[in-house]
Amino acid sequence: MNENKPRVLSSSERKIRVVEQLGMPPGTAANRLRKLVLFNQLQKHRENICVRCDGTIETSDDLSIEHIKPWENRDSDLFWDLDNIAFSHRKCNVVHVNHGGGSRKVIAPEGQSWCFYCRTFKLVEQFTVHSMRWNGVSEECRDCKSKRNALRDRRKVSRFSDIGSPGACQASGEGSISLKPLQFLH
Ligand SMILES: [Zn+2]
Ligand SMILES: [Zn+2]
Repeated sequence: MNENKPRVLSSSERKIRVVEQLGMPPGTAANRLRKLVLFNQLQKHRENICVRCDGTIETSDDLSIEHIKPWENRDSDLFWDLDNIAFSHRKCNVVHVNHGGGSRKVIAPEGQSWCFYCRTFKLVEQFTVHSMRWNGVSEECRDCKSKRNALRDRRKVSRFSDIGSPGACQASGEGSISLKPLQFLH
C-alpha cells in the first residue's frame, strides 16, 4: 500500500541522486557555480584581465584567484581583504619557483631580486625599498606595483559609477603575489 506514497530520501540517497544528475559531487558543483557567477561579474565589469600577462581571461575554467600578499602565519585580515585578491589565467599562475621548506625567500643572483608578481629576477634598482624585508626591497617590482595600483584605481572608479558608493579605499602600496592559489576555487 505504501508504493504510491512519495518516499522521503535519506541525505545519502539524495546526494547520490544529485551526483547522478549533475555528474559531480554537490560541493564541486557549488564551487563551480560560484566561480561562474564571479567570472560573469568580472566580465561585466571588464575585470577579467590577467594580472600577470594583461591578457583577457576568456572562461571561468581559466580563471585563477589568488592572494597577493601571503596571509598564512601573518595576518588573517589579508585573507579577507578584497584589495589583496588578484585574478589571473590558470596557466599564468603556475608556481615557477620551488622555495622549499615553506620559506618565501628566493635566492636571487647578485644585485637582483625576485618579483613575486611577474615572477622574474630583476635588478634591485627596479624595486622599491622595503626595510622590513629580509633583503631590503619590496616583494614586487616597480612595474608590477604601478600596474596593480592602476588596476585598483580603475576598480574604485567602477565601484563609484556602478554602485554609487566609494567602497573601501584603504590602499597600502605594496605587496606581492602569494605563491599559493586559493585552493577552493580550483
Ligand atoms: Zn595570463
Ligand atoms: Zn614584477
